[in-house]
Amino acid sequence: MTIQAEYLGMPLRLDDQDHENRAYFGLCARHSFHLQRCDACGLVRYPPGTACPWCGDPRAEWVPVAGRGTVHSYTEVHHAIHPGFREAAPYLVLLVELDTQRSQPTEHEAIRVLGNLVTPDGVLAPPEMVRKVGIGSRVRMVFTDVAQDIALPQWALDEEAPQPDRPWRYPSG
Ligand SMILES: [Zn+2]
Repeated sequence: MTIQAEYLGMPLRLDDQDHENRAYFGLCARHSFHLQRCDACGLVRYPPGTACPWCGDPRAEWVPVAGRGTVHSYTEVHHAIHPGFREAAPYLVLLVELDTQRSQPTEHEAIRVLGNLVTPDGVLAPPEMVRKVGIGSRVRMVFTDVAQDIALPQWALDEEAPQPDRPWRYPSG
């Protein structure tokens, strides 16, 4: 059965045949971060997909992965395109490099997972929190519940990790 849900006024839909995303977001709904690990080469991949981007093998199993990492890049959105985000602007879109599988299979590669900066309970972060986060910030994954079978993996500041004195931020005038 197709899953239909709504997030900030936007419709979300997962079709029955979208096996990889059904499995991925279903695990997220249990607040458990999993990725597919290739049976052939042993590397995990993101986003979920039907075959390994490294070796092409379709066989994989879902394995738990630590939701911790470092902000690799970010966008600070001041002009929300969708009305659902208007109240939350400015908000951050983070590209987070996971600690798991860094520099594999080559030194330039890593698993980098997109998400918004949120509070520990999964709500889009307020402006004073947005200003503190930049490239190099340490973050941990939290989940925003959307429906019974869907939660969005998001990022919150990792209170237990040492943070850089001044995370790198784009100059703003
Ligand atoms: Zn592979």
